Amino acid sequence: MTTRMPTLRHARLLPALLLAVGIAGPASAQTKITPDKNSYSVADDVKLGQEAVAEARKQLPMLNDDRVDDYVEDVGASLVAAIPGELRHAGFRYTFDVVNQKEINAFALPGGPMFLHRGMMEAARSEAEMAGVMAHEIAHVALRHGTAQATKGQKFQIGAVAGQILGAIVGGAAGSVISQGSQFGLGAYFTKYGREYERQADLMGAQIMSRAGYDPREMANMFKTIQAQGGRSGPEWLSSHPDPGNRYDAIVKEAAMLRVEGNGNTGQFQSIKSRLTGMSPAYTAEQVAKKQAGNGRTPVGTGGRRVVDVDPPSASFRTYQASNFLRISVPANWGEVDGSDGGMTYAPDGGFFQGNNGGTVFTHGVQVGVAQGGGGNLQRDTQELLQTFSQSNPDLRATGNARRETIGGRQGLTTPLSNVSEVTGEREYITLSTTQLRDGSLLYLIGVAPQPEANRYESAFRRVRQSVQIAD
Ligand SMILES: [Zn+2]
Repeated sequence: MTTRMPTLRHARLLPALLLAVGIAGPASAQTKITPDKNSYSVADDVKLGQEAVAEARKQLPMLNDDRVDDYVEDVGASLVAAIPGELRHAGFRYTFDVVNQKEINAFALPGGPMFLHRGMMEAARSEAEMAGVMAHEIAHVALRHGTAQATKGQKFQIGAVAGQILGAIVGGAAGSVISQGSQFGLGAYFTKYGREYERQADLMGAQIMSRAGYDPREMANMFKTIQAQGGRSGPEWLSSHPDPGNRYDAIVKEAAMLRVEGNGNTGQFQSIKSRLTGMSPAYTAEQVAKKQAGNGRTPVGTGGRRVVDVDPPSASFRTYQASNFLRISVPANWGEVDGSDGGMTYAPDGGFFQGNNGGTVFTHGVQVGVAQGGGGNLQRDTQELLQTFSQSNPDLRATGNARRETIGGRQGLTTPLSNVSEVTGEREYITLSTTQLRDGSLLYLIGVAPQPEANRYESAFRRVRQSVQIAD
């Protein structure tokens, strides 16, 4: 069971017209793009990106070649200089790193850090094609699409925002891409965008390119190049940057309204490309995954097949003060782990994973937390919380009806669920218990155990639920 920033994607329609088409004169017009509503601060974007970038650098195989890095930074700097004034945000710092990985990909984190796969550079046929992908990514960052997307799913906000979002970023960036190989699942919010944001990034990217001295049509060509590479390595970038429809034509149409200012070409592309070709081959996602496993890193968020060996819950219980208003008793061989994502987790040795992921992944134990923002109806709020958890746990299913149960002396609900563990790949047994706090927020307890051990753990979970004392 993973608990981290919800990725609410349930059919919420985007406002019909995010793009206001500027009807200026026939020449030098360009599509006006208005950034979407965003309830996060600019500083939040910066913080989120900075927290994730260090982890991403640690976990991804960085190329670390000064010449190549300098080159990409040069191209990046001229694109950044072409970002329109109203989209320049205090504290944003655009950085460009090359990842020594074969799969065609690139991603950017909120606030500016960008990672380009070597495979992407090698696939590009010109500097302008490479710059096209970079400009597109820069546009996502400048338009603050990550947090704008999170804003839409924010109704049910659990715990501290930063920790949760970090989970989505690093969990995806470093976890999924490494271990799942072909699947670049960068937590929906931050690098996987909907069609409307793709359209915006294409058009804004084209505008940035032209101001930096690159023909924006090369971006359209690059997307064709990526598509043509197809096969195993092609669709990766495309799956996180879906075609908004008529992509090629829309970019070409925008390009027709733009004037390319100067010549941004550094003239270095071919020599950099030969340099890359002369190096030993880039790592494949699979190789990177193996290396990670060899390092003994916890394959969090990886759909891994890790064997977890954990002692059964002891019969004696220990009481903890989980928060200033909450006391809870758990099996004495479970420790208290601060989940840093708004919940407190109690788990046995070997049953809890964090580290590589700002979120919490645990295979055995109980997490208790408070979800804010509910409407005050226990049943409905519980449903919504469940939906929230489903976003980071796509296999999470209710296996029976919610039953009424007294929790902390007040009316509560307990729902039996099943899930597939990200850590072991095995089915797990889960109970979600909820009750309302005086301020309308929802107290929740999640019990998690491997399905074969459901009976043994259910009796422990029941004792935990009965032990809850609330003084809110
Ligand atoms: Zn995109």
